[in-house]
Amino acid sequence: MSLTRLNRSAATLSKNRTEDSITPLSGMCVTCVDGCIGMCEVGKSAYRGPEAIYPQPFGIITSASEKDYPLDLSHFNIMGTAVGAKGIEADSDKAIFPNVNIETRIGRDKKIKLRVPWIIPGLGSTNVAKNNWDGLAIGAAISGFPLTIGENVAAMDPDSKIVNGKVKHAPDLEWRIKLYKKWQQNGYGDIIVQANVEDTRLGVQEYAISELGVETVELKWGQGAKDIGGEVKIKNLERAQLLKKRGYIVLPNPLEKEAIDAFKQGSFKEFERHSRVGMVTEKDFMDRVKELRDYGAKHI
Ligand code: SF4
Repeated sequence: MSLTRLNRSAATLSKNRTEDSITPLSGMCVTCVDGCIGMCEVGKSAYRGPEAIYPQPFGIITSASEKDYPLDLSHFNIMGTAVGAKGIEADSDKAIFPNVNIETRIGRDKKIKLRVPWIIPGLGSTNVAKNNWDGLAIGAAISGFPLTIGENVAAMDPDSKIVNGKVKHAPDLEWRIKLYKKWQQNGYGDIIVQANVEDTRLGVQEYAISELGVETVELKWGQGAKDIGGEVKIKNLERAQLLKKRGYIVLPNPLEKEAIDAFKQGSFKEFERHSRVGMVTEKDFMDRVKELRDYGAKHI
């Protein structure tokens, strides 16, 4: 059984020419023909380079892997019991469905109260997160579980004010936090602010703790889904230049004349903004935890 996926995906807007005859090892058409315009990922990447593997259309999708694992969660079955009850008195009048209580407490002091035992992990500066923030924040808050604001929100906001390399005002971040807090019920849930390398350099968590009343922060070391930092596409030259000046890796360099000319001529239509991968060590981590605790963070 081959776990290799075909050399095409709706996520990369690519396809094979011979859709029913594909070599499993390479994912290429069984006959790769001279003259094909290169619709598959191999073909597209030959003339568009790394652009070909970026999920499209950018900004309105959330992509998943097509890899078909030999074992997944559907192979498990949760079996109940026909005898007695757990978590509630074994009384037929009390052990009824509406009485289910799945509340829990997390944090080293167990002070974060959750009505339901789950959490939304980092949703950051992407358009998908921003465009759906009302639903995410209000839904999580009234349901009583934590929501994490992901990386890059402050620096990606053109209206943020950054003075001497530190965030002083970040309206998008502020809106996200305030909306969640406004809908929080009886202290359940929590709004968490994550920081990657760039956020840490810009003092985003210090700003969120001291100016916006955030008590819980998350240190981001890298990405589980891929061993590179976050990447977004920037369609606007001035925005690309702003992000470059705010410390991001922007490719090609939007401050260089060659890149500016090529962009204006339409040779490429999007800059890539990359954030760095954290290189954690135990000592750095412990030092940063202490720093944030001294600053007022209650949970890290
Ligand atoms: S480049 Fe070759 S492998 Fe790719 S779609 Fe064309 S024929 Fe198939």
